[in-house]
Amino acid sequence: MRDRDLYAKLLGIEDPWYVRDVDPRLEAGEVEIFISRDERAEFPCPVCGAAAGRYDTRTRTWRHLDTMQYKTLLTAEVPRVKCAEHGVKQLKVPWAEPGSRFTAMFEALVIDWLKEASVSAVARMLRMTWDEVDGVMTRAVARGLERRQSQPLRNIGIDETSFQKRHEYVTVVYDCDRKHVIDVLDNRRQFDLEEFYFGTPLEHLQSLESVSMDMWGPYVQATLIHVPDAERKIAFDRFHVAKHINDGVNKVRVDEHAELRELGDRTLTGTRYLWLKNPENMTAKSRLRFEALRGSSLRVARAWAMKEAARQLWSYERRGWARRAWKRLIGWMARSRLPPMVKVGRTLRAHLWGIVNAIVLGATNASLEAVNSKIQALKKRACGYRSRARFRSAILFHCGGLELYPSAHLVHTNS
Ligand SMILES: [Zn+2]
Repeated sequence: MRDRDLYAKLLGIEDPWYVRDVDPRLEAGEVEIFISRDERAEFPCPVCGAAAGRYDTRTRTWRHLDTMQYKTLLTAEVPRVKCAEHGVKQLKVPWAEPGSRFTAMFEALVIDWLKEASVSAVARMLRMTWDEVDGVMTRAVARGLERRQSQPLRNIGIDETSFQKRHEYVTVVYDCDRKHVIDVLDNRRQFDLEEFYFGTPLEHLQSLESVSMDMWGPYVQATLIHVPDAERKIAFDRFHVAKHINDGVNKVRVDEHAELRELGDRTLTGTRYLWLKNPENMTAKSRLRFEALRGSSLRVARAWAMKEAARQLWSYERRGWARRAWKRLIGWMARSRLPPMVKVGRTLRAHLWGIVNAIVLGATNASLEAVNSKIQALKKRACGYRSRARFRSAILFHCGGLELYPSAHLVHTNS
């Protein structure tokens, strides 16, 4: 078999395209394959398919999968046609998507590696520039988003995740049923979430059953404005509620510890995690120490008991029962004379409606929390992202449940 035939077979090049020449430049570590198109074949307009005249040709080069250790380039004289209706257009080639400098099979390889490694690692390994790898990733995400059909939503979760420095955030909107990230919004302002709702068809907002979130004013406001019947759908996620209560307990401990230390009492030294951890997760030794502390007359022991009570209040099926039980707890907090817990109680009272929704709807952000850790791990691997747009692209690439590969017929030409 001559090398031209061999390459035609390997590349899956078919009539009217053919391999005209192969130039192995082994010294340079490269192989270049020249492809032409039969002049006698028809020239269909790439837009409408109508027969059009050949106008001229443009020479273009694509990077393809390596041949052994040699970097392999495809060069073709691609005809441009002149369609009566669409003007001068470049013919589509069967091995690459329009506008890419890589063949579809090569892009698929890059996508596979990107799933495992950072942009810089892939660039190093495949001898590409950082921007080239980033371009493949960006195109893959755009392709995936275009293919994703807008579907009715049932349960969604909304949460912030940190970007770059402290106090810089993006908002992640998550499909709790399909378990993928729907979109990543620029910041965590009311405006950002409103933009998302504006871009979502009304019937998909109407089909929503729950919107799980933290007790964060801007998210609440945006949702109340755009989601029909949102007062019954906004669900304050239990892990976020628990975090607010934990923060209160911790504040009580810090204050009390400072006072005791003044008096030379070190009872609370090194106990921070004992008050935050659930007793069932403690080691036997910690539990022994903790049992003694929680039975004491410490203020933090009282705050801790409130936190413990709250943990038991998530399994009601009826709104009335849930509301009454939480009101009892909130009353206890209000009367506690522990300023941090009084404050937590006020927050809970103002948000009780959404806590009750979360309980009866069974809505939580638990799977979104898992995605959040994955996002933070990606950020660490990438040593941060230069822009919010890149961060969004990476999140959607890894967590968007998108179909990322170039069209199947381009990738599997040999079948
Ligand atoms: Zn046309």
